[in-house]
Amino acid sequence: MIKIYCRDVIWNMTKPYDFVPFLKCKIYDENGTLEGRIPIKVKVLTPVHIFSGHLKVQENGKIYREFIKVNRTPIIPGTSFKGCVRTIAESVSHSCLRTSQKDKKVPADKQHDEKHRCIICDMFGSMGHRSKVRFSDLVAVNYGTYVRGIPRSFKPNPESGYYIENGKYKGYKFYKHGVDGIQPTGPILCEFVTTGAEFEGEVLYSGLTHKQLALLCFALGLSGDIHPKIGYGKAFFYGSIAISSHPEWADKARQYINECSHEVKGNIDALIRILNYNNALKSYDG
Ligand SMILES: [Zn+2]
Repeated sequence: MIKIYCRDVIWNMTKPYDFVPFLKCKIYDENGTLEGRIPIKVKVLTPVHIFSGHLKVQENGKIYREFIKVNRTPIIPGTSFKGCVRTIAESVSHSCLRTSQKDKKVPADKQHDEKHRCIICDMFGSMGHRSKVRFSDLVAVNYGTYVRGIPRSFKPNPESGYYIENGKYKGYKFYKHGVDGIQPTGPILCEFVTTGAEFEGEVLYSGLTHKQLALLCFALGLSGDIHPKIGYGKAFFYGSIAISSHPEWADKARQYINECSHEVKGNIDALIRILNYNNALKSYDG
C-alpha cells in the first residue's frame, strides 16, 4: 500500500488506476459445442514495450531492453494476450478468484472447489481442465520501433490484477489510459513499438456456449467499448491497444452487453469508464 501511496504522490494525487468490484462466483455447468476462429487486428494507441528477456547495446554503447520478437519481427505473445483478456472476462462475469498471494483472504463467495468450474475456468482452463480458447501470437505487420527511456520508479509488473484494501480483496484493478504524448520518460531504456503500429493474429475456440463466445468477444474489446493494455508501464499510460475484427464479431460482443444481468451490466459500465480510450486522461502534471 505504501508503494501505491508513493506513486499517488508522484502522480500528483491522480490515481492511475481504478477498480471493478467482485461479482459472486457461480458454478457453470452448461455444455457448449461452438467452434471456430476469430481473426484479430491490434492497433497500438500508446507506445508498447514487451520485454524479450534480452539486453541489447545501442550504437552509443547504452544498454536497452529488447522488445520480444520472432524472426526479428515484434510479437505480442499469445500467452500474455490471453492473460490480459482473461482478467477482463473475469471482471464482468461470475468468476472465481485465483491467486498466488496466500496471505490475502479470498472471499468465500469468490471460490469453488476443484470438482466444479465457473464460466471462466471452463473457457480459459484450470487445474486439470484444458482451455477451450487458444490465442496465437500477434505478429506486427505495420510498425516502427525506437528506444525510449522510462522512469526508474517503473514497476515491471504493476498489473497484479486485484485491488486490495486493508489486506482484503476489493475488486479487479485496471490502469486508466492516458492520451499519447503524456507518457513520462526516464533513464531505463526500452525498445518500444510505435503508436499506430498494427499486429495480427487469431483466437481459436472449441466447445464454447453462445454466452461464453459473446463474453470472449466482449473481453477482447471487439464491441469497441473497451481498450486493453499490454506490456510494461501500464501505470505510466504505456501499452494501450485497440482490438478489432469483422463486424459479426463486434455484434457478438454487443450481445454480451445486451443479454447480461443487471449486476453484470453494472460491472461492464465500471470497466468501460476505466478502459474506454475516449476516457483517457489528457494531461499529466506530476
Ligand atoms: Zn473458476
